[in-house]
Amino acid sequence: MSVERGILVIDTDTDRAWVHGPCFVCNDVMTYNPNKVPSLPAEVTGTHRQPLCRKCAMKASENMIARGLPGFTIAIDAYEAIPVEELPR
Ligand SMILES: [Zn+2]
Repeated sequence: MSVERGILVIDTDTDRAWVHGPCFVCNDVMTYNPNKVPSLPAEVTGTHRQPLCRKCAMKASENMIARGLPGFTIAIDAYEAIPVEELPR
C-alpha cells in the first residue's frame, strides 16, 4: 500500500476499493484513492507517507509555492474509489 494510514475497503459487489481514514494534518476522516491522494513523504512525517485531505493539501501546496517549491497537483480522482485491479500489490 502506498499510504500507510486508514482502512482499505474493498467492495466485492462493484470491484472497487478505497481507503477510509484521517487526514494527517487535521484528522478529518476522508475517503481517498491510495494511488493518487496528495501526501506528505516519510522524511517529513517521520513514519510513513501520510495522506492529506483536499483542504490541507491545497493549503500545503500554497505554502510550498510561496517558498518557491513545486506545489501539489491534486488528481481529479484523488478522493474517489478505484478499480480493485489498480490496488498496489
Ligand atoms: Zn486535512
